[in-house]
Amino acid sequence: MKMKAMFIERIGKLEENPLILREVDIPKPTENEVLIKVSYCGVCHTEIDEIEGRRMPKIPVIPGHEVVGYVVEKGNKVKNLKIGDRVGVAWIKHACGKCRYCKSGEENLCNDFIATGADADGGYAEYMVVESEFAYKIPENLKDETTAPILCAGAVGFRAYKLSEIKDGETVALFGFGASNHIVYRYIRYLNPSSKIVVFVKKLGDNATKLAEELGADYIFETFSEISITYDKAIDTTPVGEVIPYALKYLNKGGHIVVNAIRKETPINAFDYTLIWEERSVKSVANVTRDDVINALKLASVIPIIPKVTIFPLEDANKALLSIKQGKIQGAAVLKIS
Ligand SMILES: [Zn+2]
Ligand SMILES: [Zn+2]
Repeated sequence: MKMKAMFIERIGKLEENPLILREVDIPKPTENEVLIKVSYCGVCHTEIDEIEGRRMPKIPVIPGHEVVGYVVEKGNKVKNLKIGDRVGVAWIKHACGKCRYCKSGEENLCNDFIATGADADGGYAEYMVVESEFAYKIPENLKDETTAPILCAGAVGFRAYKLSEIKDGETVALFGFGASNHIVYRYIRYLNPSSKIVVFVKKLGDNATKLAEELGADYIFETFSEISITYDKAIDTTPVGEVIPYALKYLNKGGHIVVNAIRKETPINAFDYTLIWEERSVKSVANVTRDDVINALKLASVIPIIPKVTIFPLEDANKALLSIKQGKIQGAAVLKIS
């Protein structure tokens, strides 16, 4: 049996339509794995980093780590899932469970971490296999297509939220307002109802601005403009290194900036030590744990969160990625696969 899948076969420029459509054999699940028939797969900025070589994938690879689908076959040792279950797969495809990171609840830092759609095949395909312990049942009130972005943007967003240690009443700045931060915005509003949220966009009036206005952000500013307020915590999802020193300028004493980006496209320019003096800190988010994914799905279900999505067919994955790079998508892009 064959399936359609999009492949990254070489490192190159996104503008050269690098993803190639192929017909390949449907993978067979091993004893601990399930075979999933994919219904939707979210499109993430990390795929651009893979294609352009900032986060090297295995070659060739089927990208995609925001996978929603249905279990159609399972290995004989699988206990936690049954045929027909609707499940999600996120960036974490495997962690060893034995190293010091795994043992201390930081499986996101596992020495043998395997990333879905980068180190192993992902969901830009009609079918994929995954260990059943790394697939999550999706709460009933969520739809397939709007759950896809929750699995990465929402899950890594949850991790960024958690690491930023926001307390109710604090002012929080969000740099970049795409797939992840527009979900984080909802977590902050729900969990910290007295907090004020400041959204920084690339250009006032752009898609991110419109989305922030629609959601009711307290302030919206253009990044790198002079502003007259300060904030306690910040989450930066931009690919621009220079945002970090800029964000530090307006950060209150003892505040943190959490950088939720797998790679920055430009370096962080040198800055004076005084920007981090008075116990200001900058911390990155790496990968996700299964707990982050489960928490993101729970929050999406109870708040509820219905991310803004633009749907593309699988064959148009190149176009979807280019639209993200060019800032043409409001919210998240999702591939409809079956
Ligand atoms: Zn992602
Ligand atoms: Zn480990």
